[in-house]
Amino acid sequence: MRIAIVGLGPAGASLTHFLRGTRHDVSLYDYRSRLGKPCGNAFAPNIIVPRNLIRTTVKRLVVNFGKKQMVLNKGPLFNVVDKPGLMQRLVEGYDVMREMAAPEILLKHYDVVVDARGPSAVRNPSIPTPYQVKISDPKWPQDEAFMNFDMRRMGYLWIFPQGGDNVAIGAGYLRDERKYAVDIVKRYVDQRNGKILSVEGAPIATKLKLDVGAGNLVRIGEAAGFIHHITMEGNRPAVESAFELSRTINDLDAYRERAQRLFRMVLGSAWLSKHPLLAGMFVTSTRVWLTMRSLSLLRTIRVG
Ligand SMILES: Cc1cc2nc3c(=O)[nH]c(=O)nc-3n(C[C@H](O)[C@H](O)[C@H](O)COP(=O)(O)OP(=O)(O)OC[C@H]3O[C@@H](n4cnc5c(N)ncnc54)[C@H](O)[C@@H]3O)c2cc1C
Repeated sequence: MRIAIVGLGPAGASLTHFLRGTRHDVSLYDYRSRLGKPCGNAFAPNIIVPRNLIRTTVKRLVVNFGKKQMVLNKGPLFNVVDKPGLMQRLVEGYDVMREMAAPEILLKHYDVVVDARGPSAVRNPSIPTPYQVKISDPKWPQDEAFMNFDMRRMGYLWIFPQGGDNVAIGAGYLRDERKYAVDIVKRYVDQRNGKILSVEGAPIATKLKLDVGAGNLVRIGEAAGFIHHITMEGNRPAVESAFELSRTINDLDAYRERAQRLFRMVLGSAWLSKHPLLAGMFVTSTRVWLTMRSLSLLRTIRVG
């Protein structure tokens, strides 16, 4: 079968990896010269990546909800990964067409077109744009991360180690209060007093329902709506949806059915963001704790 994959973030790049060695003829499109968009680079540990691409492992997570605080410190919680390096490795050996591609138009030339364009694939979305600053901060423990939830704005500030002496400080809110995100990140950056390495931002497509495409056009990753609505974690669901598609590529209806199940199972909190008042009651330490713990119960998927 002739398959085009448009977009080589974690979804498209891991699908390429899973289809390697099959008899399918796979063509790749991504307009970026360097793969891997701005990201905190945290991957749940059920996604097994090559060891040399792990920059650090988070073993302690401190979460603040207003005045309450919770500490998770059992087992590895996240691996912080060299994401551009991983994406590059997953597509190694393939020619990538460096162009802005339109999946609907490619359908004329391929049997199956996979839309893995991330947020660019989403029409009329509610798209917050998290803001993130990377700094060098030798004092921040490299095995520790921090989240400060804001239930009213439906989002949080995060500090994630990035390996070496580096740390990413970012914030994003479902009710997109961009200025607030920028201000709060700046405040934390000032407090840490480290050297600024980069300032970045990219949209997150928090659409509330799954859209897996129709006919021979099929969507995976954030393009389909696979993003966790409490933690805004998108890397793991991107890889998981790619894995499901790789196993059902000859039967797209089977993929669509499995994708519904995956969406309900992992991202069942989507309705919360439609009901901010109820959400305020539900986004409690218990719920986030369950979310984090459930990560360790998921099946493992090896990429790279
Ligand atoms: C600041 C920030 C921090 C984040 N931190 C984390 C984190 O720590 N952990 C986590 O799990 N998630 C995090 N996320 C979310 C996560 O990055 C995304 O959910 C995840 O990358 C989605 O993967 P994807 O492959 O579906 O899409 P993307 O990673 O968005 O990849 C899409 C690719 O498609 C390409 N593309 C788009 N349109 C076209 C086109 N027309 N033609 C060709 N190519 C195209 C783009 O260049 C891109 O490479 C963060 C997001 C942001 C913005």
